[in-house]
Amino acid sequence: MPTQTPACATPDSRTPTVPADVIRTDVLIVGAGPVGLFAAFQAGVLGLKCELIDVLDRAGGQCTELYPEKPIYDIPAVPGCLAQDLVDRLLEQCAPFAFPMHFNERANGLAEVPPEPHGTAGHEHPHRLLVTTDTGKRFDVAAVLICAGAGAFAPQRVALPEAAALEDHHLHYAVRDTARFAGKRVVVAGGGDSALDWALALRKTAARVTLLHRREGFRAADGTVAEMRAAVAAGEMDFVVGMLGALKTEGGSLAGVDIRTREDTISLPADELVALYGLVSEPGPIAQWDLDMRAGRIMVDTTTYETSRRGIFAAGDIAFYPNKQKLILSGFHEAALALRRAYHYAFPEKALVHVHTSNNATLKEKLTHA
Ligand SMILES: Cc1cc2nc3c(=O)[nH]c(=O)nc-3n(C[C@H](O)[C@H](O)[C@H](O)COP(=O)(O)OP(=O)(O)OC[C@H]3O[C@@H](n4cnc5c(N)ncnc54)[C@H](O)[C@@H]3O)c2cc1C
Repeated sequence: MPTQTPACATPDSRTPTVPADVIRTDVLIVGAGPVGLFAAFQAGVLGLKCELIDVLDRAGGQCTELYPEKPIYDIPAVPGCLAQDLVDRLLEQCAPFAFPMHFNERANGLAEVPPEPHGTAGHEHPHRLLVTTDTGKRFDVAAVLICAGAGAFAPQRVALPEAAALEDHHLHYAVRDTARFAGKRVVVAGGGDSALDWALALRKTAARVTLLHRREGFRAADGTVAEMRAAVAAGEMDFVVGMLGALKTEGGSLAGVDIRTREDTISLPADELVALYGLVSEPGPIAQWDLDMRAGRIMVDTTTYETSRRGIFAAGDIAFYPNKQKLILSGFHEAALALRRAYHYAFPEKALVHVHTSNNATLKEKLTHA
């Protein structure tokens, strides 16, 4: 899914002065996993404007990254669906509100927005927060809802001394541009679907592809494994059982890899190494936001799902309270209540009147004809 940039970052009537490059909205949702996506829908239902950011290049969180083809049976009124189908349905559900989603953006910094010097007499200055991302985007918001799951996903890196210097040049944790591998000797390390898929794809244009995995068995779809074995049998690519022992460099470039097999160590000339060992989650910069945390998770008040800081809420796996369950349905409930409280930060002078979606003609129209 492409990175989307908001079509409009123009201040609204509640905005006295906002620099042009700052995106102003009611709520920033950090994390477009299942809980963040449902939160976007809820924000729309409540009449809040929101934007979502995710450090990954697509929505779905754990469902998409870790188990897209696993069935889920415990979503209310959905007797069973694949994890990716659930994400697709959540995307469809929040689509009528057309909230911008910013991918490849990691929430980094958080600051309180200083009060306006010329506030209106008799009106309390609205509480605003400024969130910055690793690419420099800035969001001026009334509330932040953190749906960051287990933290920001990052690739599991090669733990060899030469790896860091080669990263992004000759050592890759994702394939973003297949053309750069054309005519090269490529080693693809890993035993999951991504490793097999890329080894099979790159063999068509690379000088030679070697798939490297620590054992004979794979964590990949049976059809993909069969396709890979057929390609090896046909001499179109190689498969080696072993582990990376060392990376050899020449003039800052990769020259080859040493592979430790069960019997001995073999040296393989290589120009590019693609390591697809899966993703690990890291607490990331949110851990520095001065929030009350317990074992890497954010403590919340279970009446509002507000954290220890005003205007900052947490829902889903990242939220912690006694008896918290890491289940999608728990996250849905937490996000719904968090946004009801967030409404008061966005509209301090308005009361939130509860109306069922079916009794709100405008909303009904929007959701029916989406
Ligand atoms: C194998 C497996 C099977 C499961 N089966 C079920 C099941 O059957 N039923 C069920 O209810 N639950 C199941 N779960 C648990 C369920 O997947 C989680 O509860 C759910 O994904 C939590 O959703 P979330 O949106 O809170 O977080 P996540 O799905 O973890 O999404 C968080 C998102 O936030 C992003 N993010 C994190 N930090 C930042 C940052 N600083 N800036 C920008 N983006 C950030 C991440 O990239 C990620 O996309 C399962 C989990 C696993 C691993």
